[in-house]
Amino acid sequence: MLGLAGIPLGLRFRFLDPSAEAPAAEVGELVVAAYDDPAALVRLAEGADAVTYEFENVPVEAARSVRALPPARALELGQDRLTEKDLFARLGIPTARYGSVADAGLPALVKSRRLGYDGKGQRLLHADEPLGQHELAEELVSFDRELSLVAVRGLNGDTRFWPLAENEHRDGILRVTRAPAPHAPTAAAEELVTRLLDELGYVGVIALELFEAGGRLLANEFAPRVHNTGHWTIDGAETSQFENHLRAILGLPLGSTAARAPSAMVNLIGGTPDVAALLALPGAHVHLYGKDPRPGRKLGHVTLVGAHGDVVDEAIRLADEASC
Ligand code: AMP
Repeated sequence: MLGLAGIPLGLRFRFLDPSAEAPAAEVGELVVAAYDDPAALVRLAEGADAVTYEFENVPVEAARSVRALPPARALELGQDRLTEKDLFARLGIPTARYGSVADAGLPALVKSRRLGYDGKGQRLLHADEPLGQHELAEELVSFDRELSLVAVRGLNGDTRFWPLAENEHRDGILRVTRAPAPHAPTAAAEELVTRLLDELGYVGVIALELFEAGGRLLANEFAPRVHNTGHWTIDGAETSQFENHLRAILGLPLGSTAARAPSAMVNLIGGTPDVAALLALPGAHVHLYGKDPRPGRKLGHVTLVGAHGDVVDEAIRLADEASC
């Protein structure tokens, strides 16, 4: 999606991916190698104006070696849920209670500190037990809703925020994003993200996932990259997160982050509905990633721009029917 956004700007792309099946091969040269393969990293960066990443488990040293943006420090602090939560605490960004089971209280959600995403590596604990060295306990938050704020900062410090998005997860996997979120605590959320951007010397797109609970905002995690809850911006915003990410890391002027119309994005997970049925919905924009179906795998998404709730419900129904 970065490649698709950049080609109209006259940009050309080279990608590094461990899989020869990477969909990015459709929009640029693909180097197939491990993320930390020294020769592949040299090839990746050769002649490039900028290097970036869109997967937060890229090895920090690999990102550092090619002077990738966002800064590798953001990657480093975000890869470990404990250092991430400690960073939030240091910056005065509220979170769920965390640490040992005693710190978190019961019931607690136990998460693996590293390599957890889409709810992987999480379990619910109802009684105290010693945690592994690589685990972290969190208070189970009974939130009113989940929100995310996607922001972009340019090389010159110019900072823009897309409207806050409201997100629904199932089994820890994002299903639906609606933006702009109604009655959004915009100023408070933007202030929290600004603290992060300042601390990290940030350039590029960042996403902060938040719980709204009893009128309070608690930070769950940040992602130093373009984010699934920002996919609606491709069709629903003046400038997409992908285009603005490229503009940011290349030192180009940023584009408007205003919404064109209220939008909803529905992930296509595990299976893809009939494309014609999706396209028949008013305001529908279909994005298929060209990945092989696998249970729980995000294969694409559909964004409904300016659509009424019943159209969104129908898209969710079609996605659910095909999902596994
Ligand atoms: P994560 O892998 O941390 O992004 O978590 C995935 C999803 O699990 C979140 O979007 C929430 O729906 C849920 N979740 C994570 N942490 C908590 C928590 N401390 N309390 C309640 N739900 C949570």
